Amino acid sequence: MTEKVAELGEFPLIDRLGQVLGREGRHPAGLDLGMGDDAALLQSRAGCQWAVTCDTLVEGRHYLPSYLTAFQLGRRAMAVNLSDIAAMGGQPRYALVALGLRGDTLVAEVEDWYRGFAAALNPWDAAIVGGNLTRVKGGQFISITLMGEVAVGRALRRSGASPGEVILVTGYPGQAAAGLRLLRQQGDRAGLEYHPLVQAYTSPVPRVAEGRVLAGSGLVSAAIDLSDGFLGDLGHLCAASGVGARLWAKQLPLSPALGAATVEWGDDPVQWFLGPSDDYELIATCAAEQAETVKAQLSAVSQVPVHQVGVLTDQPGCLELQDAGGSLSQLGIRGWDHFANGGQ
Ligand SMILES: [Mg+2]
Repeated sequence: MTEKVAELGEFPLIDRLGQVLGREGRHPAGLDLGMGDDAALLQSRAGCQWAVTCDTLVEGRHYLPSYLTAFQLGRRAMAVNLSDIAAMGGQPRYALVALGLRGDTLVAEVEDWYRGFAAALNPWDAAIVGGNLTRVKGGQFISITLMGEVAVGRALRRSGASPGEVILVTGYPGQAAAGLRLLRQQGDRAGLEYHPLVQAYTSPVPRVAEGRVLAGSGLVSAAIDLSDGFLGDLGHLCAASGVGARLWAKQLPLSPALGAATVEWGDDPVQWFLGPSDDYELIATCAAEQAETVKAQLSAVSQVPVHQVGVLTDQPGCLELQDAGGSLSQLGIRGWDHFANGGQ
């Protein structure tokens, strides 16, 4: 268990990681040739198109090892990509994993990353089909490319929303940022593992089933996943669709855990809901008269609550919050920007 990456070497390490996937991963139909050759051979299904995404987590910038177990880190890294496929309404199929590893990293740690990757992919019968290992001196990284399938013409985009439509959101945004604050306050995860806010950060559940239903309904005009923060990502959707948004403060789903934490901090929970946070929930828009149908279709496959939080307006770039008394305040767009913000 103390063996290091540099002691084992690249090709034996690839063999060991392949063994983890052989034991714990899937070998879905359509995967003609996986890891071990120069390239994988994959079949696509008739009538489908590929949705392809890529995301990289860099140690010290996107994560700190003291906040997550190696298994959680692997599962979370894959969940980030699954969420992008979910936002398009896709069925996850194949992943490519590129790692930057220091020579003194324990082999067992990398194996745990792979257990996490497999745990995230298995519910969707999706598999890792290849990748690349490289040696780094500084921060390690995990870079994943994920391919999903969606029926031609059914993919959800950010750009289809219209004024007058309503805004739906899954789950309870803002919790991941609050969990990260708890981890930062303490400096590590000891004793915090089961805190609901910390779990929202360490173990996000990508809304793949929900995204599939939203795409399949034919009723949803636009969608996006929450990787930057509610307001930031809603802003992306509004910009792509050329619309504005009015949110109803009373309708925002604030989780009890977020409520309790913000009372302790003396903060406004609405600001945590709106602000930078990578919760991997979904925002979707649809005609007001279809909202109950969409919610009913979601509840048939998912326990995740869905709330109607506002309406789209014909004022592009204008995001506003309507309080209980009916008065409006303008909202700036505050999401996560990798170049404007510092790392953690
Ligand atoms: Mg996204």
